[in-house]
Amino acid sequence: MVKDIVLEKDVVTIKHYLFRGIATEFMTFGRYRKARAMANMSIQEKCFVCENEFGEEENLSLLFNGNRTNKLCCEKCAEDILKGE
Ligand SMILES: [Zn+2]
Repeated sequence: MVKDIVLEKDVVTIKHYLFRGIATEFMTFGRYRKARAMANMSIQEKCFVCENEFGEEENLSLLFNGNRTNKLCCEKCAEDILKGE
């Protein structure tokens, strides 16, 4: 007799992103949020790297790659990136 076997398995996906550089102290989250809201643009509310939510006064760093997929990260992650960790 043939019977379906359904298995469940946790899968971890690792994506690789290439950035050309990082601009630290890009601007505060509050300033970024207001500028984006005024321009009716989407707002990235969490660090791209650690996914912690940004605080209003938090200094953001910009990971850039020369196209429209630039990402923001927190100061802690920017420091780790610059240290090569
Ligand atoms: Zn972070």
